[in-house]
Amino acid sequence: TEIPTIQIIDAKDYVGQTVRIGGWLRQKRGSGKIAFLQLRDGTAFFQGVVVKADVPENVFETAKELKQETSLYVTGEIHEDSRSSFGYEMAVSDVQVIGASQDYPITPKEHGTEFLFDERHLYLRHIKPFATLKIRNTLIAATYEFFNQEGFIKLDAPLLTGSAPEGTTELFETDYFGQSAFLSQTGQLYAEAGAMAFGKVFTFGPAFRAEKSKTRRHLTEFWMIEPEMAFMDQEASLALQERYIAFLINKVLEQNDQELDLLKRDKDLLRSYTQLPFPRVSYDDAIKLLQDNNFDVQWGVDFGSPEETFLANHFSSPVFITNYPKKIKAFYMKRHPSRDDVVICADLLAPEGYGEIIGGSERDTDYDYLKARIEEEGLSLDEYNWYLDLRKYGSVPHSGFGLGLERMVTFVTGEDHIREAIPFPRMMHRIRP
Ligand code: ATP
Ligand code: MG
Ligand code: MG
Ligand code: MG
Repeated sequence: TEIPTIQIIDAKDYVGQTVRIGGWLRQKRGSGKIAFLQLRDGTAFFQGVVVKADVPENVFETAKELKQETSLYVTGEIHEDSRSSFGYEMAVSDVQVIGASQDYPITPKEHGTEFLFDERHLYLRHIKPFATLKIRNTLIAATYEFFNQEGFIKLDAPLLTGSAPEGTTELFETDYFGQSAFLSQTGQLYAEAGAMAFGKVFTFGPAFRAEKSKTRRHLTEFWMIEPEMAFMDQEASLALQERYIAFLINKVLEQNDQELDLLKRDKDLLRSYTQLPFPRVSYDDAIKLLQDNNFDVQWGVDFGSPEETFLANHFSSPVFITNYPKKIKAFYMKRHPSRDDVVICADLLAPEGYGEIIGGSERDTDYDYLKARIEEEGLSLDEYNWYLDLRKYGSVPHSGFGLGLERMVTFVTGEDHIREAIPFPRMMHRIRP
């Protein structure tokens, strides 16, 4: 009978059977009589055991000579093995080399982060990136599932644009046939146009910001999910945001048990973050709370990392900080009905120091007000006339928000730096590989 070729993740279904697995050699140890091959195939990790006395001589010799990252087929019988951290192993009867490997440059335990990211194209093969990026993939798939089931359509916003709604200091400018264009910082204004056409839409694409500061939370190229909902006020938007966050965390808990274990992420702690509703604190009260705890902050400032970390840790939960000062938020946010100095908005801050996960607001619907705000911000009206049209032809109350995918990845995986959360990070001093 033909020997089936399987993936490591399916080994549990083949206990007692002889199978073939294609993969790469991670590590090898052993003696003159036995070789332990640590293998990976992109689905999981496991061990193949080659016993000299049980295999033809040339098979053992081949196994003994294998170098790290050689690609190969191993054939043998699958056994349960409670001692191995992956639960299964193979009693190898044959080894077939597919691609030889030269001396492999990476040993993660020995190398510093800068080196690992210089070699990111290879470093991707290692356990931590594997687990982190698998969880990233779950968050991506869960995002589509959630918004589909909530009745949204995905609206693709352009990446080359003439407008810069999130501030002109963090723009990447590029030549566009002799005119200047910018790499998109957000799809939000386009999402608003989409909401007026389709009711509920979300964009999901890259965003570019020339972040010159070196923080653990800022990339220059990151991925953002931006839902926008017609006929929805801020209260309903906050409820949607809570459902979405809980849905994402639950999906990872369901689907990434192996990866959470590999990253040693506390699953009970993660589960505790699915308790709804999240606490809500006004910006005014947040300032008081910070001042009472010896932070040197005055009403009107935006929060930095220490303030955001303190606030979310204080509640041991993701927390919404609502109604920030108008002067530190984007022009399109809705005026407060009874106060001139704040807008109807909220940031969702994650505990444990993962920072701002979501920024969102209700949008102002008044043509004259928005026109004045655009001018006040020193933005060019020519670039925003199309946006102002949305207020001329059947404007409705609407709200939306933006979630940073990589911020969510670091929060869920427990990674301390955002560069771990994307396959090929782009930062001020890193554009290769
Ligand atoms: P921050 O205050 O952390 O700089 P922001 O308020 O400038 O973030 P928004 O314009 O509100 O960010 O963008 C929406 C979301 O996009 C943020 O809540 C965050 O999750 C994510 N985000 C923003 N800037 C970056 C970045 N440079 N790298 C990665 N994610 C980012
Ligand atoms: Mg910012
Ligand atoms: Mg912010
Ligand atoms: Mg924000």
